[in-house]
Amino acid sequence: EDRPDTDVAIIGAGPSGAAAAAWLARKGYSVRVLERTHFPRFVIGESLLPQCMVHLERCGLLEAAKAGGYQPKNGAAFCRGDDYAAIDFRDKFSDGPGTTWQVPREDFDQRLIEGARAAGARVDFGVSVSDFRADPFRPRLSCVDDDGKCFDIEARFVLDASGYGRVLARLEALDRPSSLATRCALFTHVEDRIDRAEHDRDKILIGVHPTHPDVWYWLIPFRDGRASVGVVASPELLESAGDSDDQRLWAMLGQEPRYARLLKDATATREVQRIDGYSADITRLHGPGYAILGNAGEFLDPVFSSGVTIALDSALRAAPLVADQLDGDAVNWAQDFEAPLRRGVATFREFVDAWYDGRLPRVIFHPDQQPRVRQMIASVLAGYAWDIDNPFVAASRRRLTSLAERCELDSQAVAP
Ligand code: FAD
Repeated sequence: EDRPDTDVAIIGAGPSGAAAAAWLARKGYSVRVLERTHFPRFVIGESLLPQCMVHLERCGLLEAAKAGGYQPKNGAAFCRGDDYAAIDFRDKFSDGPGTTWQVPREDFDQRLIEGARAAGARVDFGVSVSDFRADPFRPRLSCVDDDGKCFDIEARFVLDASGYGRVLARLEALDRPSSLATRCALFTHVEDRIDRAEHDRDKILIGVHPTHPDVWYWLIPFRDGRASVGVVASPELLESAGDSDDQRLWAMLGQEPRYARLLKDATATREVQRIDGYSADITRLHGPGYAILGNAGEFLDPVFSSGVTIALDSALRAAPLVADQLDGDAVNWAQDFEAPLRRGVATFREFVDAWYDGRLPRVIFHPDQQPRVRQMIASVLAGYAWDIDNPFVAASRRRLTSLAERCELDSQAVAP
């Protein structure tokens, strides 16, 4: 008999898969999520942006996430030598929440997918998607389970939320190189033992290397006294920093005075992990019977913690369009999904470019920024990268360039 196995098949149970699954299941569609691993599973990407809270609410997962009791986050702090600048997300230009959390992802992702399950989605763990046949009405996935058993799943629509797995990018030959330079990340979790009087745990700390301005660090404290720490640098520089990734990470952390001080009593609780060349792009985010969400599509750079925000944004743009299409409406995926999603991504890309070419650090470390401008920057850094009423969204490059020039002139004026 010619019935599909499910209305919607979703590859991957990370935040983008869980959010799309929860939204669609709540609307009454049958949803089947196929996840290669067994949860809880580790993934990097622990600092959320306040914009996420809007998306979690919309797919009905906010309460499930809240139950995690995570470390609150109200901003981002930046350090560079003696410079320290804190950006408070609550003092921002755009409407919307001004706070969020810093989350161990094994716990957060599990809560989200359990929430999607509670909403009615079926989730199969230990099932890897290995092949795909595109079709506007009946796309088909080939799967392999942990026992090596192969089977096919026919759906009426497929969402690829496979993150670093990049399943459809590979199988449909959609990969294209990112415009960003190749960088590597080394990271671990620590029992941080940081003196609470000395450090604001409610913010991510981004540090700039004293002599390599394109090298940066993150410190993301969790509720339970642990923290995520990492460094991002060119492969060559990391290679020269030590003989093993463990040595390289700790050597690099030791080179930044504030990090060295804060982490002097820290002990690692995970093995150091490495991701090489994390930036990725894709020629298009949709095709016959499928759309691509989150990291399975484009990934920029982690410096502004935009990954989960973009993942959730893409899920909540796609899900209502999937519903329309299943209900028989014509959907313009290029116009109504890909273009608006890419617009927000483009805002972040401008900020990432401005971070690495020095314009943004000039702005961030400027001691007396105009309050209104500070709010506009805070809005983008809080994830409101789609709010075109914000001049730093509508004309990111021009605004960042002229502001950076003004900051440079100011600092020359006050220099002795
Ligand atoms: P994922 O969370 O990666 O989930 C994809 C799921 O698909 C996985 O569970 C995987 O097992 C499954 N899967 C893969 N292949 C298959 C297959 N063939 N079949 C079935 N299942 C499959 N983001 C932030 O928001 N904040 C941060 O602070 C941050 N820091 C980062 C630091 C670094 C160094 C890097 C590289 C990234 C960082 N990110 C951060 C980005 C973040 O990791 C991702 O954006 C986020 O996890 C994307 O969610 P997702 O749902 O798209 O994919």
